Amino acid sequence: MTSMFQLLIDGTSREGSEGKTVPVVNPATGETFGDVAYASARDLDEALSAATRGLMSWQAVPPWERGRILKDAARRLRDDIDRIAHVITREQGKPLAEARVEIERSADFLEWGGEEARRIAGRIVPGRAPGQRIEIQPHPIGVVAAFTPWNFSMALAAKKFAGALGAGCSIICKPSQETPGSVIEMARALLAAGVHPAAIAVVFGEADQVSTQLIHAPEVAKITFTGSIPIGKRLAAAAGAVMKPVTMELGGHAPVIVCGDVDPEATAELLVEAKFMNAGQICLCPSRFFVEASIAERFTARFVELAAALRVGDGADPETQMGPLANERRVAAIAGLVEDARTRGATILTGGRRIGERGNFYAPTVLTDVPPDAAILHEEPFGPVAPILPFTDEAAMLAQANGLEFGLSSYVFTRDEARLRRLVDALRYGVVGVNGGLTHQPEAPLGGWKESGIDTEGGIEILDPYQITKHVNLQ
Ligand code: NAD
Repeated sequence: MTSMFQLLIDGTSREGSEGKTVPVVNPATGETFGDVAYASARDLDEALSAATRGLMSWQAVPPWERGRILKDAARRLRDDIDRIAHVITREQGKPLAEARVEIERSADFLEWGGEEARRIAGRIVPGRAPGQRIEIQPHPIGVVAAFTPWNFSMALAAKKFAGALGAGCSIICKPSQETPGSVIEMARALLAAGVHPAAIAVVFGEADQVSTQLIHAPEVAKITFTGSIPIGKRLAAAAGAVMKPVTMELGGHAPVIVCGDVDPEATAELLVEAKFMNAGQICLCPSRFFVEASIAERFTARFVELAAALRVGDGADPETQMGPLANERRVAAIAGLVEDARTRGATILTGGRRIGERGNFYAPTVLTDVPPDAAILHEEPFGPVAPILPFTDEAAMLAQANGLEFGLSSYVFTRDEARLRRLVDALRYGVVGVNGGLTHQPEAPLGGWKESGIDTEGGIEILDPYQITKHVNLQ
């Protein structure tokens, strides 16, 4: 029988050579709706040899033309947005409206990578001897191995495809096998737009086996990963052993500092939206709410009221505001964090329970009285739980906010300019959202500090991770 989601190698969709498949489950219903083909070591060898050929052909396409092709792929995604949104919602769970935003954002990234491809340029440095000059030439680094997760399966892969293909590299992507359809859709749009068929491969398989083989393959020149810190460390260590550069976009545990001078109700409204988007499964998601004691009661009351009122359901239902968690592991993890906090003395103000027996639904949850040793204050929750931590002493609060090894995103809410500057300067995070939510727009680079990552994605630097500088000294 043919799998619903096949490997894409050398422009051709096909089964894995050993015939292995795994089921793909709709997180809203628990039903298996398809299966995904797994690559064997031989399939990966074929992907590697195709990508090597693809690199030769694709890097020879003038950057201006590569830019046109990437922008055409973006147009194709936008033109087919309604159908593709259903593909994303069925496999990942997010509401259709959020799936549409994800497709738009993916298209934005492809366009941006295409624009930056058109601006590739080197420079000439005068030498010291008469007539001597040094050319600084940007070159595509080579075949890229990309590993992408299930929470924004299209958009997080789009950043890597945009940078790699814009720079002239070929790319082999291993998306999460739990959300295979989104990256396949994007790859098809890229191929239809004219990317060389051998320059793109999408493979699924046993994560450890695939990453080990691709990282060690001599054909691969660059590793890029988005996902959890533990896996990121493993992949970076493996890449380091063979001296290959990495881009690592890893997890976060964002502090949100709400100062006493803001409107508590309006701020709660903004933050409920930011917290429960994609059921909290966002690396930038606000996750530790430090609220100044003078407004904590009013903020918390409105936050709880809005969280409790969210319509939780199948993302395919247009009325749904929060979908299911993407997999059963997240439900178990969130239930474990909430139970740990409760047994240590935390109060559950709303939620704190699974909803129904079908699908991975967990109620939007708000906690207070959370003691400092509760696991939720140390582990990335990646789910719909908000611990609210009133504070009076700014210095002690900042020490706690900065006290973890995470360094991705953070948030500050205040109208006091001096305090804003002081807090923004003090936060050891790669991203600070001020008086609002955060999303990654392609025009600005974004990445983590500390254990949250290495390198950035996006911005005018979007091609940098995929280029190598050649210094040509002409005498
Ligand atoms: P996980 O750590 O097992 O996997 C994280 C991602 O890495 C998944 O997409 C998975 O397919 C991939 N992966 C796992 N092992 C791999 C390997 N050896 N080689 C290549 N890729 C591999 O955890 P999970 O249960 O899938 O996700 C839970 C945690 O992951 C969350 O708590 C969150 O911290 C993190 N996460 C972060 C992001 C992000 O955008 N930063 C995205 C998804 C998940």
